[in-house]
Amino acid sequence: MAGGSIAAYLVFSCAPRPPVLSRCKKTIMRSTAYFPDLPDVAILGAGAAGVAAGRALLAQGASVLILEARERAGGRAYTFEGSSDFPLDLGCGWLHSADRNPLVELAGDSGFTVDKTLPPWQDVRAGEGFVPGEHAAFRDAQGAFYARMEEAARAPDDRPANELLEPGGRWNAAVDAVSTYVNGTELARLSVKDFDAYCDTEVNYRVTQGYGALIARLAQPLPIRFGCAAQMVDRSGARLRVVTPQGDLEARAVIVALPTNVLASGGVRISPEPSETLHAAANLPLGVADKLFLSVEGAHELPENGRLFGATDRVGTGAYHYRPFDRPLIEGYFGGACARELESGGMAAFADFAIEELCGALGSRWRARLAPVACSAWARDPFALGSYSHALPGHWDKRAVLAAPVENRIFFAGEATHPHFFSTAHGAWMSGERAAAEALRALAGAHQA
Ligand SMILES: Cc1cc2nc3c(=O)[nH]c(=O)nc-3n(C[C@H](O)[C@H](O)[C@H](O)COP(=O)(O)OP(=O)(O)OC[C@H]3O[C@@H](n4cnc5c(N)ncnc54)[C@H](O)[C@@H]3O)c2cc1C
Repeated sequence: MAGGSIAAYLVFSCAPRPPVLSRCKKTIMRSTAYFPDLPDVAILGAGAAGVAAGRALLAQGASVLILEARERAGGRAYTFEGSSDFPLDLGCGWLHSADRNPLVELAGDSGFTVDKTLPPWQDVRAGEGFVPGEHAAFRDAQGAFYARMEEAARAPDDRPANELLEPGGRWNAAVDAVSTYVNGTELARLSVKDFDAYCDTEVNYRVTQGYGALIARLAQPLPIRFGCAAQMVDRSGARLRVVTPQGDLEARAVIVALPTNVLASGGVRISPEPSETLHAAANLPLGVADKLFLSVEGAHELPENGRLFGATDRVGTGAYHYRPFDRPLIEGYFGGACARELESGGMAAFADFAIEELCGALGSRWRARLAPVACSAWARDPFALGSYSHALPGHWDKRAVLAAPVENRIFFAGEATHPHFFSTAHGAWMSGERAAAEALRALAGAHQA
């Protein structure tokens, strides 16, 4: 691995620290006194979904408390500002479907800069590491594959997406590699019908100061209890009771805005268990996608906003974005089994892998010019356990099941619950607004009854 600069490997695996309140007051265990107010709505998770739900509820005059396991808001929207001259989005980076994405306007209103540069995957000038002539052949093969997917999605039965690959096709590995970036998983674990339900308007912007920084800014006015991991939602009584290591919180309604893997693994239990909800969460697992940022000496020699696939004949390979925002950086992207395996070796493993692939394409003189700056490991993050959701084959109908309220007082938000913008930050945001509206209707109904 090339050395040089201070490197940060972000596993995010630190145990939650005690909440702020317990540091300044004596700790009151297992007592609602720790949470003195009875909020109308308790929200679990201050990611994009929880933040949107909180803002929507506050705007309607409801009382809200958000419990967040980490010491920051944003969840999988995270801008790292620790060891680089630039803000680095280690989670979401693109305002996808920007013409329908409410966060574009919120970014402008909050003083953030929206960058409209074409993404490298839409810029046909980006050679992507193909020998001349092969790039067009790959794009044709990929286009034909997506056309077969679209047609297959209209059939009554769902299928694993790898069945739509051309038998023995030259570009199958590259098409599968793209699935690991886009879906966080290989095609064999991807539902054709769910993939087809995703809405992409193909308008993609970025936030110069960071998408994660934007979500964190939007969270600022909200009452959030940081470092407070919910353990259980007890729905056996007249009031809902949220159990945390620091005490219990009672609320009239709860919005669960947690990643599916956290729910499905029992990281937060709901008692009595809503088995259909948990079954849906288990069949909408988070795939894995990770980023590695490398600093580049002499970056001007690389094309701004260019892109390279580390290899075009294997699934386990990185995609490299040159000079994002014209910064002297390469942003590496790794997905599926490849990312999961690299996570076990830490940032050194990501960097070794990436530099090897880059030098294979650019020449070995680049080795000394590349140094790791920051890296994610989302599958190892205990409060995410993955990157973004996909449906397993046969389970394309589970997003609606996951989104359905339990007893009209526990509501579900999060990217995995959105029918068309799943796996994205704006999908998460919209789902939070939807869950907030549901909770408000339920509270109003209960008040009238
Ligand atoms: C590498 C990567 C790249 C991505 N790129 C893009 C992109 O370009 N564009 C895009 O739109 N999307 C992208 N995404 C996806 C996007 O980041 C997510 O879909 C979105 O941020 C999810 O928001 P959420 O609120 O549903 O979940 P989360 O952000 O996961 O929020 C859940 C919150 O719950 C908290 N939590 C967990 N357990 C507990 C507990 N027990 N008690 C209390 N709180 C708890 C977590 O800490 C977290 O803050 C990317 C994601 C990754 C990882």
